[in-house]
Amino acid sequence: MRPFPATAPAARRAGGAPEGTAVAGGRTGRHRGEGQWAMGHFTPLNANEQTKKDDDGLNVRTRIETVYAQRGFDSIDPADLRGRMRWWGLYTQRRPGIDGGRTAVLEPHELDDEYFMLRVRIDGGRLTVSQLRTIGEVSEEFARGTADITDRQNIQLHWIRIEDVPEIWRRLEGVGLSTTEACGDTPRVIVGSPVAGIAEDEIIDGTPAIEEIHDRYIGSREFSNLPRKFKTAISGSPQLDVVHEINDVAFVGVRHPELGPGFDLWVGGGLSTNPRLGVRLGAWVPLAEVPEVWAGVVGIFRDYGYRRLRNRARLKFLVADWGPERFRQVLQDEYLGRRLADGPAPEQPAGQWRDHVGVHRQRDGRYYVGFAPRVGRMDGATLTKVAELAAGHGSGRLRTTVEQKMIVLDVAGDRVASLVNGLEALGLRVNPSPFRRGTMACTGIEFCKLAIVETKARGELLIEELERRLPDYDQPISVNINGCPNACARIQVADIGLKGQLVTDDQGRQVEGYQVHLGGALGLEPGLGRKVRGLKVTADELPDYVERLLLRYRAERQGDERFAQW
Ligand code: SF4
Repeated sequence: MRPFPATAPAARRAGGAPEGTAVAGGRTGRHRGEGQWAMGHFTPLNANEQTKKDDDGLNVRTRIETVYAQRGFDSIDPADLRGRMRWWGLYTQRRPGIDGGRTAVLEPHELDDEYFMLRVRIDGGRLTVSQLRTIGEVSEEFARGTADITDRQNIQLHWIRIEDVPEIWRRLEGVGLSTTEACGDTPRVIVGSPVAGIAEDEIIDGTPAIEEIHDRYIGSREFSNLPRKFKTAISGSPQLDVVHEINDVAFVGVRHPELGPGFDLWVGGGLSTNPRLGVRLGAWVPLAEVPEVWAGVVGIFRDYGYRRLRNRARLKFLVADWGPERFRQVLQDEYLGRRLADGPAPEQPAGQWRDHVGVHRQRDGRYYVGFAPRVGRMDGATLTKVAELAAGHGSGRLRTTVEQKMIVLDVAGDRVASLVNGLEALGLRVNPSPFRRGTMACTGIEFCKLAIVETKARGELLIEELERRLPDYDQPISVNINGCPNACARIQVADIGLKGQLVTDDQGRQVEGYQVHLGGALGLEPGLGRKVRGLKVTADELPDYVERLLLRYRAERQGDERFAQW
């Protein structure tokens, strides 16, 4: 294993240093035991680090193709099954029938089903009709028709057999899609503005940077062993439409008064346990330099990131300890070899929704049409029909969004009504209620091994109930539902965040329910929702609780006061 590429200055120095020696911008002392490579600590401090040192996660592909797919599930090495297969987007899914109360007490192998979730990465949310058709076909043929749009623009399939994986890769890669580093301690999908290159109000199109980063670094061994996952967001939209505040690194479109359009650099955002919003480094980055700066930030994470405890290994902990000034200094001095220009902060976006749902004019005079499935849930047959609609009404381009929605691009004005009718006939709303528009749910107990409660079906039921009870409710609202204390559905930055756990009902029974978080927000006045002390609702009470809350908000709000300000 070659832990450092020759290109990283700090790494070069660190690579020659004896174990435990401080090098470059690092310090000894209290970080001595964090397993930072740049400090000369190469001895793995936990089982995950050992697995990565034993063999690069990317190497598992050959074994999948030549051994596991031939010999079946039982032939899979446990270190590959629960570790390296993630480097190719594969997770074992939860064995059916295990209730949430047993999640924490069972051993991993007792929770593992012999089927997999497969995550297809869709960088920038950019899809063509032929790609969507292929995902639809794979879903129908190999995934029992499952297909969920995630809140990071990916599409996830379930019920995948190991025997079918090589054929699935062949089909996906045949149309330019991949599952490479869709999971694992790697640079995950790069989220990008779903309206990049077409929006009338766009500041700058980040697509060339997304493509270059993808082509140069995804699947490269330079960044295939990071301390943990690494999330990237790039958007030149003034709508701030990629949740940049909760990514490890984000490039946010701004106009520099002298230098013109470019990107404002943010680092260190992340939710889950110990949620933190990203911080600005005050640096302006031109489009052409985004890949180099991105590689510098990932390099810092690889070299200085903490590798002792998994729950302290995200970049946000290093940024919290260093502060933005020191982080920028190390980036400039050790990774870029030059100073970055100072730059302005993004401005407050005008609209309250950032999801691009509805019919909107493009800058070329055509239209894009965003629509809302319920909680991101689609299926293979519907994806195929959406692909046909896009082929018949647009130029064949589609996008996924970070709100679990989709968009058809390049629709001529006289074809919009026909497309809207076609989507609505599939149950995909172009003018959805605020509840359908604003509700997201993670995978939950149906497939996720960490889940304690059901999420998707609960979310769908909640939407239906609120639409029936509050048909004239018209205020933007976000309701995010997680199946466990992790944050896959971003509960901490929702108006109403619901964290799945077992709660006690009024008969004293342990039942599925949620801890309530209220008042989270993103945008230029971001904040993490308040965990309402002691406020837990059972899953059955959820529609009643949310209805009461919304009615009170509507009655008490002053002027344009948003839910988070109330
Ligand atoms: Fe699974 Fe928890 Fe993430 Fe939901 S939030 S997908 S239950 S890990």
